[in-house]
Amino acid sequence: MIGAGPGGYPAAFRAAKLGFGVTLIDPEALPGGVCLYRGCIPSKALLHAAEVMRAASDADAMGLAFGAPRVDLDRLRAWKDEVVVKQTRGLASLTRARRVRHVQGRARFRDAHSLEVSGEQPQVIDFDAAIVATGSSPAAPEGLRSDSPLVMDSTAALAVDEVPATLLVVGGGYIGLELGSVYAALGSQVTLVEMTPGLLPGVDRALVKPLAAHMDAVLREVLLDTRVTALRPTADRVEVELSGPSVKQPRRVFDRVLVAVGRTPNSGDLGLEHTAVEVDAKGFIQTDAQQRTAEPTILAVGDVAGEPMLAHKATHEGHVAAEAIAGKASAFDAQAIPAVVFTDPEIAWCGLTEDEAIARGLEVEVSRFPWMASGRAAMLGGNEGLTQLVVEPRTRLVLGAGIVGRGAGDLIGECVHAIEMGATADDLALSVHAHPTLSETIMEAAALLDDDSPHFMARRRARG
Ligand code: FAD
Ligand code: NAD
Repeated sequence: MIGAGPGGYPAAFRAAKLGFGVTLIDPEALPGGVCLYRGCIPSKALLHAAEVMRAASDADAMGLAFGAPRVDLDRLRAWKDEVVVKQTRGLASLTRARRVRHVQGRARFRDAHSLEVSGEQPQVIDFDAAIVATGSSPAAPEGLRSDSPLVMDSTAALAVDEVPATLLVVGGGYIGLELGSVYAALGSQVTLVEMTPGLLPGVDRALVKPLAAHMDAVLREVLLDTRVTALRPTADRVEVELSGPSVKQPRRVFDRVLVAVGRTPNSGDLGLEHTAVEVDAKGFIQTDAQQRTAEPTILAVGDVAGEPMLAHKATHEGHVAAEAIAGKASAFDAQAIPAVVFTDPEIAWCGLTEDEAIARGLEVEVSRFPWMASGRAAMLGGNEGLTQLVVEPRTRLVLGAGIVGRGAGDLIGECVHAIEMGATADDLALSVHAHPTLSETIMEAAALLDDDSPHFMARRRARG
């Protein structure tokens, strides 16, 4: 197993359970990968801290005053690091319990049956089968590259070594929005620049709208249709050039810049040229549904094996790969992979969007239940939320779902399950949901298709 992230360690554990002798190779001393050390876990820990600050400030409307937050950056950083350490230690003990051999170092293929590991104890390891789970790294395109510590990628931003007075965030995708929110909560004046006409390109606009409104409120400015064309760091600031139809001030100066314009797969330095493994123009390793590459002894999973670059997709692929090696008929055939942006409000979606369903020639009906009709949302201060279902009218099958609002990332699980089980809107509407909870919004969105929601009257439309 090459790489001990959420693709590699679950694959190693599954392979060990299936009876294989497994070696897990990774540069870190303990398993975890980007997800634990530089991704999901530290970023969500910081977002939780930001959420606590927001909740304390919102409580004023309930007559509860906590005063302005005082941020002790050293303690915040130590707490966030502790969250990570607990998880990686837990994985290390599971690695031992599963009798997986952990080798610290960097692997490179010599051929289709052996690889060399560089590190403190260089060695050559022979294998019958190998799974590549080397993940991805921050993209640094021409013009946005810099060695200056004032120009950060997501890893540097997660270190929170200081809170700059002014911060430019380049990219209005997952990382720009999540980490931009964190720095805004900590006190930075954040300017976010996105080159397309809207935040989170590709995501349903009805879901993005409440988030965009919130971002306009908490960030100093959001510049859409705008590109950063050059970064010039000086000793203590970064000069930036912006271009775009509505740019009024093409030269700006910021204390720090966070570049978050996507990630590139770690396939370049693996010695793949000594194997028959094929890589596409973007560097993603090409695999079939069993995660097999063009080289029969080598499989690939996770970020290095293609979009979406999400931890849970990596884990599922890791399980499939281990089982494929064991000769099982497993395949990655998910109908719905949830995606969650952990902003305030959260956005989560799965399955087909309305436009994707129409592009496939399907007739669709979209039901949108606004959270202003939810008692739970009203008490949580989440009136701007929305739960929507994309349904095929003839069969009533749920094809897709999207939720924006507090806890959307947890709520979307029910929709994933519904799609995977081939549930109809009636299954969702007829399942008793606890009151008062936000999960009722899924039931109500389903009932809304027949204008049967007790709390809202339908305004639906059919397309396709
Ligand atoms: P990785 O986690 O990248 O692990 C790959 C491992 O392989 C690394 O430890 C790397 O050092 C090692 N490696 C690389 N080359 C070699 C080599 N030659 N030899 C040995 N080891 C090697 N996804 C979510 O689903 N939810 C989130 O909330 C989320 N938040 C994120 C926040 C941030 C800031 C970032 C950057 C990403 C986030 N992601 C999130 C994406 C998620 O981290 C990745 O999709 C996931 O980590 C991919 O898992 P992986 O196992 O493919 O690779
Ligand atoms: P992203 O693809 O989500 O967003 C990058 C954004 O930058 C896009 O909107 C793009 O239009 C914009 N952009 C590109 N070049 C630009 C330029 N020169 N000027 C201005 N804008 C520019 O990428 P990301 O935010 O770097 O995240 C990488 C990946 O990591 C994500 O796609 C996701 O797979 C994963 N991730 C997931 C989570 C999560 O699950 N919550 C969180 C963080 C990261």
